[in-house]
Amino acid sequence: MRRLNFVVFEEFFTNVNGRVSGICQWPNDCRFFMKRDDEGVPCGVVMEISGASYLVISDDGREYRCRTFPGTKTENGDSTLVAVGDRVELKMIETGTALYEAAITLVQPRHSALTRKRDVRRNRSKEKVQVIAANIDQLVVVVSAFDPPLSTRLIDRYLVFAESEEMEIVIVVNKMDLEDSRETRQLMKPYKALGYRVVYTSAEEKRGMGPLRKTLAGKLSAFSGHSGVGKSTLINQLSGQEDRLRTGETNMKTGKGLHTTTNSVMLALPKGGYIIDTPGIREFNLSGITRDNLRFYFREFLSAMQECSYSSCSHTVEPGCGIMKAVESGHIDPDRFESYLAIYESID
Ligand code: GDP
Ligand code: ZN
Repeated sequence: MRRLNFVVFEEFFTNVNGRVSGICQWPNDCRFFMKRDDEGVPCGVVMEISGASYLVISDDGREYRCRTFPGTKTENGDSTLVAVGDRVELKMIETGTALYEAAITLVQPRHSALTRKRDVRRNRSKEKVQVIAANIDQLVVVVSAFDPPLSTRLIDRYLVFAESEEMEIVIVVNKMDLEDSRETRQLMKPYKALGYRVVYTSAEEKRGMGPLRKTLAGKLSAFSGHSGVGKSTLINQLSGQEDRLRTGETNMKTGKGLHTTTNSVMLALPKGGYIIDTPGIREFNLSGITRDNLRFYFREFLSAMQECSYSSCSHTVEPGCGIMKAVESGHIDPDRFESYLAIYESID
């Protein structure tokens, strides 16, 4: 049966004579579609997605405009077939049209993925998990010291998200030129004590860019943070392309509203490493966090909760709570505990 199908397809491809068809099921056998590649399979990283078109930079530094087809294989199950950050294998397309230069034959396994729950009503594809970005090494959370003011509640939400995703996190405090530096550093002290990396910058005055570059070197970093904190300004400076992303200011001038692009974009850093700026990451939520698992994402709670009288202690009202005792004795920062209670209240 399988053999028969193959013969039918072979005939089909002979007959369509020169037109690219999307129904090829055998990327490796289909001579119509691909050039034979005797020098090994070219691999690359997906830099940008627009509609059904993928911009891939191959390992030897060439840019290819690529497409998938029904025979594209994946090692990532039912999730989004191709996401920014994916490593893919390519076959050159021999069509004579300049529209696409290569086909993605295989999406390699992801070592990490930033995902979003699928909206079932709008889900036309089979994917169960929507991947916003793949193979991220670290999440870079950008906050501002002022305008908007520094919110430890917000930082704690990001940390809960990163811990639940088992992701490395870097906290970038931008707009240091607008606020008293000593006060800001004091507010960030508990995070440093917990082992989180904190980098202070002023994108406007180009300060702190050296340490930030060092933190990003050789890694794939996803930038996240509320609108207006200075992500675009920072990314533009890091990438060395001043106009790469529109900043709030530019948008105000054009009147087009903030960040009109909705697709993920990956930028190569001049000295190695990549940044992904994804609207989807900016709007992440704590959809995977429940009242039962929240406690595990405050890293300083892990040892203190061993002392709770009840094994199912929620650390909100129970007597003999190890975490509340640790807050009273000063071993756990009361502000972090307040964040725990606030997030606990906000979820069910
Ligand atoms: P995004 O929404 O996070 O991408 O923020 P933008 O990069 O668009 O910046 C929002 C506004 O803050 C713009 O008017 C920037 O010029 C300004 N801005 C960005 N970084 C700094 C900074 O370090 N200091 C000051 N004072 N303003 C900044
Ligand atoms: Zn407890």
